[in-house]
Amino acid sequence: MTVKNKVALITGAASGIGKEIAVVFARAGAKVVVADLNRDAAIATAQELRAAGGEAMGVGMDVTSEEQVNEGVDAAAKEFGGIDVLVSNAGIQIVQPVHEFEFAAWKRMLAIHLDGAFLTTKACLKHMYAQGRGGSVIYMGSVHSKEASKLKAPYVTAKHGLIGLCKTVAKEAAAYKVAANVICPGFVRTPLVEKQIPEQAAALGISEEAVIKNVMLKETVDGEFTTTDDVAELALFLAGFPSTALTGQSVVVSHGWFMQ
Ligand code: NAD
Repeated sequence: MTVKNKVALITGAASGIGKEIAVVFARAGAKVVVADLNRDAAIATAQELRAAGGEAMGVGMDVTSEEQVNEGVDAAAKEFGGIDVLVSNAGIQIVQPVHEFEFAAWKRMLAIHLDGAFLTTKACLKHMYAQGRGGSVIYMGSVHSKEASKLKAPYVTAKHGLIGLCKTVAKEAAAYKVAANVICPGFVRTPLVEKQIPEQAAALGISEEAVIKNVMLKETVDGEFTTTDDVAELALFLAGFPSTALTGQSVVVSHGWFMQ
């Protein structure tokens, strides 16, 4: 399948990586549902996509709320005639060493990354199965789905967990021609990463330049950040892949930071 005329619901799509995926999918002819905790920004992003000639609607959705997820997914399916692609992308970052990590912050991280992925998957699969026209579920993992970094215990735990969810969905959903895959980006300069640079500098007692060069990009082949467009192109490829031959995989896009 290609994404042309397909309905794609993207969470966390009012900023950063999710927004770029929304732009690239709309340009490719998908009907894009911009779902985000920030309702005003979701609506404004959808408006931008329509102004550029795309088809889009904005939905306010906290991915940790079963009620909001179900309402948003059902409203989108009603408006656009079903759901073909889910990009479960909403996420945040909180950095602290394990021995100081607030329990509430740990639970919030797991809720956004794992409960959010579960709830949106459950809600979207119901539509995909009932429609009987296949589909694609894409999780926004990270190189941290494969590797650990200091200060990021719940993030690393959740991103590893997404691979388990993906593989299970791949097995269950194959009968309905629905594929599930994980995208694992390296560092991308979005608000999520900009916020971490001074935080990590303070926590590690090094300069911001050193965080970028010696922590974030140290293991890349060329010292380059991955871009939102790099990630969006991979999402487009996975969402448009024509069969479930490509399922249960985690694909790393990281300038060689992690090689498998
Ligand atoms: P971002 O901060 O630019 O965007 C995240 C979006 O998610 C925001 O619009 C925010 O409002 C939304 N959001 C936050 N909590 C939400 C909730 N409970 N419900 C719905 N929406 C919510 O961040 P980004 O860098 O674009 O990150 C997007 C995803 O990519 C995240 O899952 C992140 O872990 C992952 N990722 C990012 C990088 C990176 O370097 N930026 C690398 C690998 C993976």
